[in-house]
Amino acid sequence: MSEEKSLNFLEEIIEEHLKEGRYTSIVTRFPPEPNGYLHIGHASSICLNFGLTKKYPGYTNLRFDDTNPDTEDTEYVDSIKADVRWLGFEWKHERYASDYFDQLFEFALKLIDKGLAYVDESSSEEIASMKGSPTEPGRNSPFRDRTIDENRDLFLRMKNGEFPDGSRTLRAKIDMAHINMLMRDPILYRIKRAHHHRTGDKWCIYPMYDFAHGQSDSIEEITHSICTMEFVPHRELYDWLIEKLGIYPSHQYEFARRNINYTVTSKRKLLQLVNEGHVTGWDDPRMPTVSGLRRRGYTPESIREFCERIGIAKRDNLVDVGLLEFCVREHLNRIALRRMVVLNPLKLVITNYEQGEEMLTMDNNPEDVSAGNREIPFSAELYIEQEDFMEEPPKKYFRLAPGQMVRLKSAYIIRCEEVVKNPDGSIRELRCVYIPESRSGHDTSGINVKGTLHWVSARHAIKAEVRLYDRLFRVEDPTDEEGDFKEYLNPASLVTVEGAFAEPSLASAGHHDRFQFIRNGYFVLDSSATPETLIFNKTVSLKDGWTRPKTDK
Ligand code: ATP
Ligand code: MG
Repeated sequence: MSEEKSLNFLEEIIEEHLKEGRYTSIVTRFPPEPNGYLHIGHASSICLNFGLTKKYPGYTNLRFDDTNPDTEDTEYVDSIKADVRWLGFEWKHERYASDYFDQLFEFALKLIDKGLAYVDESSSEEIASMKGSPTEPGRNSPFRDRTIDENRDLFLRMKNGEFPDGSRTLRAKIDMAHINMLMRDPILYRIKRAHHHRTGDKWCIYPMYDFAHGQSDSIEEITHSICTMEFVPHRELYDWLIEKLGIYPSHQYEFARRNINYTVTSKRKLLQLVNEGHVTGWDDPRMPTVSGLRRRGYTPESIREFCERIGIAKRDNLVDVGLLEFCVREHLNRIALRRMVVLNPLKLVITNYEQGEEMLTMDNNPEDVSAGNREIPFSAELYIEQEDFMEEPPKKYFRLAPGQMVRLKSAYIIRCEEVVKNPDGSIRELRCVYIPESRSGHDTSGINVKGTLHWVSARHAIKAEVRLYDRLFRVEDPTDEEGDFKEYLNPASLVTVEGAFAEPSLASAGHHDRFQFIRNGYFVLDSSATPETLIFNKTVSLKDGWTRPKTDK
């Protein structure tokens, strides 16, 4: 079988560029706007941009696209840096579009001096009404033909704060009949008195995205500026500005957004979930944010693997979250330490176990011998899962039932002799006998049983809270449904189990440890846990147990 993977379309372009000598090395950038936390879609852009310069000579910058002071914040800057690093990437230069405000201002003056930009006094409504439509040309603004000197003077006065917010804009002078609506004299600068997270109150005019992005790319000599498909129509303006300014010719390439089902991937919508208290924060383990996935127990390796598997495409599509879960399950299967935890305890007493207690040995990870083993205490009083016992079992029920035998994992075979009840009819405890010759690894009993149960020793077990998660939304694409997307939140996305019992070794669980709770799933210690209060998050189940709601599709 050939292991060679085919190149994606960007790798093909880059290999061609390197071969023909257009570049000897490449420069990419990841350009988040610091107005929220990164989500899984951003992770795919990160893996793509940083991945290309790992594969080919060159480097990647981290550039904060901070031209919109209203929504941006240093908290977001810090979280983005932490997330990129956690995903396993390191940038060459940390840059901010706001670092270039002086230079962008000079670029604007240059356009004015070339007669390619003018100050417009039309209101935003007037500008919109003169824009035309895809089938009709727009109309020229009455302010379009000012002299260069007049434009210069007005633009400087805009900068100096002589005009109120929104009263004037600087526009590129291109063509109000252009077939591409974005080329109909796009706005380059607006007046806005807003405090900027880095430049403070220095500026009252701010460049628009289109006038900052390409220019920042050019200043950093980005060779391949990769963005998502919605920027295809912007490419013409991107190229026009670079050409007219005569600056470094960066080029824009587009790929399709990657979104996953049963969630939303838009910072604005995620912010609503946070602000309205539908989740506990940006790092709520149900969130598709990098910080949420981290808290949920995802590993950087599994996220990179997911991004690699979905690859890149030209057409938008919704990726099945099952693939993300598959990737983390595969990785955790290799690295997770096996532990026994009983979520819904049922007491079990072994009436013929007279030695008090003993230590039994159990592998930490059968997939990885280097993980070693540990000792777990066994005694006459144990807990098993309530769901592992049935008083009146159906045929082929291999778990515990009156008169039936099972093996206790890494311990003995037991048989249920008696069900002791409370006055209200509920089960108080099960009385069982064990087969002394059946100890795992030393079994001479000759008895074969089909079921193996996990258990903990009642006296040694430690209490834990366990949080079980389900999809955040009930439908595949909540933004594609009628009404508000929040109507489709899954009310059962979090189930908290407070009275779980864990084997004692989990008392020393660390935040970087990954666990498989045997027969249940993969778990991680929650970031809010302390040695006194153990809280575990379920990362993913052992198997894909998700049954999709039936649809007519
Ligand atoms: P959102 O709509 O969530 O706010 P955005 O595109 O506005 O996303 P930016 O901070 O501007 O967020 O994005 C930084 C980079 O990540 C951009 O290059 C953008 O194209 C890319 N990106 C954002 N969302 C996705 C996605 N779902 N799939 C792939 N790339 C994405
Ligand atoms: Mg954006």
